[in-house]
Amino acid sequence: MLLVRDLPISLVLVTNRLRAQLRRRRHHHPAGHLTLPASLIVILVLVAGYTVRVLAIDRVRMAFTDRHGGVSAGPYGTRNLGGSVGDDPAAVAENRARTATGFGLDPGGVVFMRQVHGRDVRYVAEPFGADPPSLDGVFTDRPGLGIAVLAADCAPVLLADPVAGLVGGAHSGRDGTTAGVVPALVEAMRSYGAADLVALVGPLACGRCYEVPHPLREQVAAVLPEAWSVTRHGTPALDLRAGITAQLGRAGVTDIRHDDRCTIETAGLYSHRRERLTGRFAGYVWLEAGREPTSRDAAQERALP
Ligand SMILES: [Zn+2]
Repeated sequence: MLLVRDLPISLVLVTNRLRAQLRRRRHHHPAGHLTLPASLIVILVLVAGYTVRVLAIDRVRMAFTDRHGGVSAGPYGTRNLGGSVGDDPAAVAENRARTATGFGLDPGGVVFMRQVHGRDVRYVAEPFGADPPSLDGVFTDRPGLGIAVLAADCAPVLLADPVAGLVGGAHSGRDGTTAGVVPALVEAMRSYGAADLVALVGPLACGRCYEVPHPLREQVAAVLPEAWSVTRHGTPALDLRAGITAQLGRAGVTDIRHDDRCTIETAGLYSHRRERLTGRFAGYVWLEAGREPTSRDAAQERALP
């Protein structure tokens, strides 16, 4: 698996390297003052910076942000990308701009939807601007155009056909999943020429945490049996990841990948269930401009300013 949760490992590696260097310095200068070698300063800058792992499949790029590295304050701290959760609009704009820049995208070239827990999806060739329509899925064939799916317990689901050159994103929470927004997006992308789709299901409230009233579980399970779940306390729950995975499978998508972090259990992600008043992280998907398909498939690291 990929992405931001690998960050602590690299931090640990860097920290260990720092410790080793400091030990060596102390050994050579046991009583002297500590002077930091130039290489150490570079490492400290890297630690102070912030990196997000990006999944690269041919010219397709997929990534999930988290709470870190932004300018929002209080319950929105710090990289809140959600525009309608009560955060300072200037802070959200700055967070969106620095995230786009970090991914190599034009800050004015990222599509945000007004997500309403429905199943409407649409082809996009440019961002909607200040007043986006109510949609829960969009897709494009335009290189360099970013698609952002906001979430804080609902599933951000990213789709791509690297060969056909199509990328899409869906916001699939309880109602959207029950309504079938992900199958709707698959179908729409197929009608534009997508064949072999890759899906990446992002962090969401997991089936052991997402408690719901008994009638609601039965209501969803009647439509999507795979979503039936119980919490770790034995109470009724929904497993959206299992439900969405089943939907993707039935829609003929065989390459299904997961960032299987649970938003409720992961402090570095926003969770509406855990915090109520909070921000939104986002899944980003885009076609790298100026690249031809190479059938390479690798994780990269991008420094986000
Ligand atoms: Zn969980």
